[in-house]
Amino acid sequence: MRVAIAGLSHETHTFLPDPTEIDAFERGAARGGAIVDQYRGTNTAIGGFVDGCEDRDFEIEPILHASGGVSGTVVDDVYDRYVGELCDELAAIDDLDGVALFLHGAMVTETRVDPERDAVRAVREVVGDVPIVVAMDLHGNVDGRIAEAATAVCAYRSSPHVDAGETGRRAIALLADAMAGDTDPTTVVSKPGLAVPSPFSATTTEPARSVVERAIAWETAPELYDVTRWEDRDAVLDVSVFFGFAWSDVPQMGVSAVVTTDGDLDLAETIADDIAAFAWEHREGLTNPDGLYGVEEGVAYAIERGRETDRPICVLDAADRLAETTYVLRELLEQGADSAAVPLLWDPEAVEACEEAGEGSEITVDVGSKSSPRGGGPVELTGTVEWVGHNPYVATGPMRKGQRIDHGPTAIVDADGVWVQVTTEMDTAMIDADPIEQYGYELDDFDVIVSKSKTHFRAVYEERAAEIVIVDAPEYSPADLSQFEYDHVEGVYPVDER
Ligand SMILES: [Zn+2]
Repeated sequence: MRVAIAGLSHETHTFLPDPTEIDAFERGAARGGAIVDQYRGTNTAIGGFVDGCEDRDFEIEPILHASGGVSGTVVDDVYDRYVGELCDELAAIDDLDGVALFLHGAMVTETRVDPERDAVRAVREVVGDVPIVVAMDLHGNVDGRIAEAATAVCAYRSSPHVDAGETGRRAIALLADAMAGDTDPTTVVSKPGLAVPSPFSATTTEPARSVVERAIAWETAPELYDVTRWEDRDAVLDVSVFFGFAWSDVPQMGVSAVVTTDGDLDLAETIADDIAAFAWEHREGLTNPDGLYGVEEGVAYAIERGRETDRPICVLDAADRLAETTYVLRELLEQGADSAAVPLLWDPEAVEACEEAGEGSEITVDVGSKSSPRGGGPVELTGTVEWVGHNPYVATGPMRKGQRIDHGPTAIVDADGVWVQVTTEMDTAMIDADPIEQYGYELDDFDVIVSKSKTHFRAVYEERAAEIVIVDAPEYSPADLSQFEYDHVEGVYPVDER
């Protein structure tokens, strides 16, 4: 069997002011055989494609993989260039048996509200009846139209995304059965009309965990539910839940249940509607759960709790998109925190000032929030320059293990127990212990540690922190969605009910 594999990925935050240009994608893009060498055995969807195909002795036709990260609306050129290249390459392959695509699901370009759907339609036009399976991120915003163009669609089931490789292998298993003619996949999508801010899509927390567990149970033990035709359990091929990406002003924004059965449309619809209804029942917990703090009260609580516990309290400042907001730092200073770490604050100017001052010197410097109009404004920091330098390292955390990480020239300032690490490379991924431990400190050195992650930090901090305190700041990714004007979202709770 000859299988083409390709990926194009971006999580588009449509309220961010700056567009995302093609360079952001091209920097890490891979083409042809390099994809197989680079991704084989990695915990990525593309790696899962490679492994799934090699396990079955399929012949792989690797085409391209490009990922632009998370940022503002993507220029049309990205779609035109990559989807054009993909279609041209596909057209040139003889005797193609199947196509596996990894598409994030939340990309938006200047003129396309659902470029992933358009890409699958374009591929379908080129390959005709050949099965196309699409693996996606559970933060994708999808609707039924992508399922019409694809043979089957499946998504990660974990956030943190520790199952990306497994999702790729699931996609290849679906594709293999369809190519062999053993199944006739029918995929449907049901949407409850619900927007979930990403921190509440953490599948290690309720109610997101129960929503995903219900999806998996439908696949493995549908007789648990009230289905009269439970003898059809073998007909359930894949059940996926997308929590969507809330900071995107597109009509298909929000939660989706995506179900593939073996030619049984009724069963697929029954399951998809059941999961959509279950998510809707839990809408309060998925949008504004108990225990979400304002910045002032959350910081006060974390300082107090941190003094009582051996392990640190992790303050999740999830609203920060640009790694520079100062709301939490300002509160830590004003409330007299004496053992707090604020890692990965992006501020090249402040790094330069620390370099000039030199290690060991006292400094007063404005840090943070110099580019974002929603960042809270710079904070005046007075303290000792503990360290300046450049320390690229190999990541040790579960999400990025083995990857080379470079925060650029970096400085650490200690302001009476508030430890601030300023960097020249923007990175909100405080998802493991590396930004602290790779610089010679321990997590347990601090009572309070601030993370700007969304869910990925949980793979480390659920274990190593005594407690996680989520605060909501008025930055670009607030849990409070009423801070943005949505023009294209209708009938989606809570956006439409404020
Ligand atoms: Zn995601």
